[in-house]
Amino acid sequence: MTNGYADLHVHTKASDSTFSVEQVLELAKSCGLRAVGITDHDTVDGIAKAVEIAPSYGVEIIPGVELSAEENNCEIHILGYFMDWKNPAFKNKLDELRHSRMERAKKIIEKLAGLNIELKLESVLALTESYTAVGRLHIARAMKLAGIVNDIPEAFRKYLGQSGPAYVKKQFLSPLEAANLIKNAGGIPVMAHPGVLNNYDLIEKVLQSGMQGVEVYHTEHSSGTVEKLKMLASKYNLLITGGSDDHGAGKSKIYLGSILIPYEYVENMKRSLKKEEK
Ligand code: AMP
Ligand code: FE
Ligand code: FE
Ligand code: ZN
Repeated sequence: MTNGYADLHVHTKASDSTFSVEQVLELAKSCGLRAVGITDHDTVDGIAKAVEIAPSYGVEIIPGVELSAEENNCEIHILGYFMDWKNPAFKNKLDELRHSRMERAKKIIEKLAGLNIELKLESVLALTESYTAVGRLHIARAMKLAGIVNDIPEAFRKYLGQSGPAYVKKQFLSPLEAANLIKNAGGIPVMAHPGVLNNYDLIEKVLQSGMQGVEVYHTEHSSGTVEKLKMLASKYNLLITGGSDDHGAGKSKIYLGSILIPYEYVENMKRSLKKEEK
């Protein structure tokens, strides 16, 4: 008998997905998901609403967040689950990170202007729900709408990617800082999509920097990567998570529900939180 499935890595309009919380829940329901993890970049603004309306969809919301860190000059994403998303210190830090996202968006637009590409900040912010959780995906979408690029990958390839001429770094935490921020708010820090890095020395280093879990299953992980990460989860005694990293219709395609992990993994997370309480 199945206990149901979860997709633990889903974005909403609160950050850089094109889907509202309602659309996420509607889709989760139609995929038959038991639980969905809302993991927006640097914000928990979608969670209160999601938790409030989830019962009418019969889907459980796992509160989450996705933070950006840096190690050895590489961008590392850290997921947090089950934090008290109303924790003031936690919220203050997220506010600070989003403020710096806004400043960075302005710098990216200045760099584009230096390349004779006119893009208005307003046209970017119009694609965000709350202005400040602005990211490169919003800028890429605005560039597409303005006819500057044909599609989102082109915007990253030509301008916004790490080696692109309009790239500006975000404010990064260290992996340990990100992990502690999540832990101090009562949550579980999980290294997101390690396979994207494809550098196992670095992956092992980050896994030992305060992580309590590892995202083994992800849209961009091959079956070989999944096997390697499973071994690392067991080596470092880490919880296993997984999710689609869906961004709605605005990235390339809709991934929600394409990565389904057994609900037992969610139960393992809940059990580990209970142990910590004791
Ligand atoms: P930011 O957090 O503002 O640096 O934006 C990073 C986000 O942009 C990621 O979470 C992805 O959603 C998206 N992204 C990064 N690289 C690409 C790419 N090559 N093509 C499409 N989306 C991308
Ligand atoms: Fe994103
Ligand atoms: Fe990510
Ligand atoms: Zn993500």
